[in-house]
Amino acid sequence: MAKDAILLVEDDQGIADFLKTAIGRDPRYTLQHAGSLREAQEQILQRRKSHAGPFRVVLLDLGLPDGDGMDVIPWIRAGLPETVIMVLSARHQEEGKIRAFQSGADDYLTKPFTPGELVARMEAHLRRLQVQPQEINPSVGGWSLLDENRLLRTGEGREVALTMKEYQIIRMLLLNMGKAVSHQKLLTAVWGPTHADQTHYLRIYIQRLREKLEEDPNHPRHIITEPGIGYRLILD
Ligand code: CA
Repeated sequence: MAKDAILLVEDDQGIADFLKTAIGRDPRYTLQHAGSLREAQEQILQRRKSHAGPFRVVLLDLGLPDGDGMDVIPWIRAGLPETVIMVLSARHQEEGKIRAFQSGADDYLTKPFTPGELVARMEAHLRRLQVQPQEINPSVGGWSLLDENRLLRTGEGREVALTMKEYQIIRMLLLNMGKAVSHQKLLTAVWGPTHADQTHYLRIYIQRLREKLEEDPNHPRHIITEPGIGYRLILD
């Protein structure tokens, strides 16, 4: 079986060596290391040219010698729509996390973390990418999901482009149309069991979905908050 290629973008040599050892000895993965944004971009472009297949995972530090990792997330996301982007940062601020997710990151690990936690999260993301295409998509109340391009067609016939996570959330809500879906159920389905208590992830994504789907995102008619429980999708 082909190994999953991982790109680690990290200028702290100590952390880089530590992760190279921890992940590098796992036979399922190969790890490449970039010490700056410029190196990371070069390695991503080189890999594209070599036809070796895209990186499956990019582990991205934010404080890098030639800039902020945050600024390169949209570029990575645009070129590698199926790649798992995980931010590794010492920054704790909620605001930074929100920005990372809004830019297209899939996950955010605050340093210090253990290699076990990193690998477990990475695996959960990769598993989800693998099972998704075979699943049957719901078509409910005139809304349907179009698999190939991750588009949602609404009842009015509008087509909305979704990111992978947005797509997975809407899919869960559509499958349970009209019923409240708990935070835990959504988080487990989309991010994996290690994220079952990260309700702030959901808040960010639900807000983005509302901005894309609702006429007035501040007074949603479709994606309804069930306080203390989760979210419910209502189509009319
Ligand atoms: Ca750094």
